[in-house]
Amino acid sequence: MTEKLCNPDATELHDNIARVRERIENACVRAGRCSDEVTLLAVTKTVSVERINAAIADGITEIGENRVQEYLQKRDALLPVKAHLIGHLQTNKAAQIAHRVAMVQSVDSLRVAEALNSAAEKHGITLDILAQVNIGGEESKSGVAPVEAAEFCAALREFSALNLRGMMTIPPISDTEYKKREYFSRMSQLFIDIRTKNVDNSSMDILSMGMSDDYEEAVLEGSTMVRVGSAIFGKRNY
Ligand SMILES: *Cc1c(COP(=O)(O)O)cnc(C)c1O
Repeated sequence: MTEKLCNPDATELHDNIARVRERIENACVRAGRCSDEVTLLAVTKTVSVERINAAIADGITEIGENRVQEYLQKRDALLPVKAHLIGHLQTNKAAQIAHRVAMVQSVDSLRVAEALNSAAEKHGITLDILAQVNIGGEESKSGVAPVEAAEFCAALREFSALNLRGMMTIPPISDTEYKKREYFSRMSQLFIDIRTKNVDNSSMDILSMGMSDDYEEAVLEGSTMVRVGSAIFGKRNY
């Protein structure tokens, strides 16, 4: 442990994680929510195995990676952790990832779902997934349109080796708290609507939204999982 204290990078990482956790907690207090309703997922794209492991040693239990290749290169050297795929998935990569992550959050088409389902079946597992919704309807972002979300979720529930746990979104970049909250609020409402319509609603419990610049607003609007990268690991060098 003394080693950790003497390593300035580990100390900074520790402070960053503590600060993010504190802000999540404060947002929960403001929203009248319990802080254990919100999971902190550390986004580790471009981050080295050493630093990811330092974060895990500091209490991070879930990580998010964007690219299949990058994740598979790091995977064997990671301390025990739940890994989530959060970046756009190409159908031809589904077989490589389905049995190697705890969850795929970026399911944005039935083709991808079908590929994940066959891969999961082959390995005899049930894979947790989230439906990605493009809440701002942006050209540049993946995800189904909000008006298609209910039908999409219903279709996803038909895959026997997939377990639809909820929804994920990346809203447009907004510069005011008001605008940020408006998108999150819309997403939250959509999530609640779809969950309520679902007869067997027991497993839809995750609303993944909020990143470094807006996770507090996301928590205020009902997020149950925030995906935080640069506020923990610093600015990324691509
Ligand atoms: C990179 C990324 C994040 C984290 O972004 P930060 O702004 O660094 O917190 C979250 N979600 C997705 C899908 C990402 O690609």
